[in-house]
Amino acid sequence: MQRGAITKVSGLMVMFVILAGGLAAAQTRVCVDPGHGGTDSGAVGYGLLEKNINLDASLWLRDLFNADTADTLGGSSWQVYLTRSTDATVSLSGRTNYANSVGANRFISIHCNAFNGAAYGTETFSYSGTGTSADLRNKIQPRLVSYLGTYDRGVKTAGYYVLVHTSMPAVLAELAFIDHSGDSAKLATASVRQQAARAILHGTQTHMGITAYDPGSAAPPPPTYNAQFIGQSCPTTMTAGQQVAVWVDLKNTGTGNWTSAATRLGTSSPANHASLFFTNGNWISSSRAAGVNTTTAPGAVGRFNFILTAPIATSATTFTEKFKAVQGDSTWFGPEVVFTITVQPLTVIVDNTSSGFYASSNWGLSDYNSLKYGANYRYRTAAAVSDLARWNANLPLAGAYKVYAWFPSHSQYTVAAKYFIYHTGGTATITVSQQASGGQWVSLGTFNFAAGNAQRIAVSCWTSGTYIVADAVKFVKN
Ligand SMILES: [Zn+2]
Repeated sequence: MQRGAITKVSGLMVMFVILAGGLAAAQTRVCVDPGHGGTDSGAVGYGLLEKNINLDASLWLRDLFNADTADTLGGSSWQVYLTRSTDATVSLSGRTNYANSVGANRFISIHCNAFNGAAYGTETFSYSGTGTSADLRNKIQPRLVSYLGTYDRGVKTAGYYVLVHTSMPAVLAELAFIDHSGDSAKLATASVRQQAARAILHGTQTHMGITAYDPGSAAPPPPTYNAQFIGQSCPTTMTAGQQVAVWVDLKNTGTGNWTSAATRLGTSSPANHASLFFTNGNWISSSRAAGVNTTTAPGAVGRFNFILTAPIATSATTFTEKFKAVQGDSTWFGPEVVFTITVQPLTVIVDNTSSGFYASSNWGLSDYNSLKYGANYRYRTAAAVSDLARWNANLPLAGAYKVYAWFPSHSQYTVAAKYFIYHTGGTATITVSQQASGGQWVSLGTFNFAAGNAQRIAVSCWTSGTYIVADAVKFVKN
């Protein structure tokens, strides 16, 4: 304001208070205070000095306020005052005296936090928890958290010097923790500092009852997301139910940072489909394999680590699974990454020479019959005694399996070989003639088994005919 224009008229002293420009009543005077400076570097971390981060964000904020003033399509009109615009040493009283002297309507101090290297996030302070300063604080804080992608430490009150000694509503924003690896990577990025300024602009606009507005060309563009394929690990074959750790490397060719929380590898073609290779306990969800392993700045390569679990296939089947990067679960970007994997059925074979086979010495060993499985087979004379030939099998997955027996066949063998199947529901007896159908896998049916190593099948000698043979059995996961 220009005060005290005094005019003498007809002997009367008349005082006019002239508001500068008449329209200036709508202009808000904002004092922006970049914390620290000069000999006072503020907090330090990861090669960053707080004073430099504060100044850069403050200068961006000044430019945004000025651009908003120049742009009459939206937003508002501002007069910006900076307590420093260079790397200068300014005392705390110098800052508040300046803000008070220029008659600022609002005071916004910009800082970065530091603690023990483990703390992270954004917090914004006012002196009082209620009133105009708290409202400004409450409007700025959520936008900082949203635009910076930082952890929300909330709004707080504090008796900081610049909050106490300013005569206008005042706030102090701690953008992020400069001594925390993730936060400092954000603070080190120019586009992130621009987003901090934009968050404060929008918060201040909203606080003043104006719709948040990005003024014209001066507004920092929102970050873009793009990627270039660098490489992947991919098995060409897997066995049903098998788990294999894989990775995908993508280069960040956009302008926004990737973070493990927001930048993920999702299923594509069609987007968000439930993957047949989903691994419970490892994936984020059935359509999100993993987030990027670390914060990945533009130009850097990020890795997505996850575990594939092969789906069940009862015959060799080739699967194609496709992924793309997705930001915030909605913005898909970059190339499609394709996994092409042939899944073999989960098959367990126990031959009479395998470690899982047991039979007494009453079961002879022969290689006579050419319809045998492997080198030989066991045989026994039929007798009304309990003398089982047994097959134990180590089954990696619980569930249903198709069960087969292989035996050589001959007209002197039994017409009623009794195979006992020890499944989760009890014991089934399957009677098979060994006089025909030898030299191939003969189905005994489909049964449920628990996982692990256990007795699964036995064949009895207590039957009719001359000989019973015990050769091989096979389990195929259903
Ligand atoms: Zn500070």
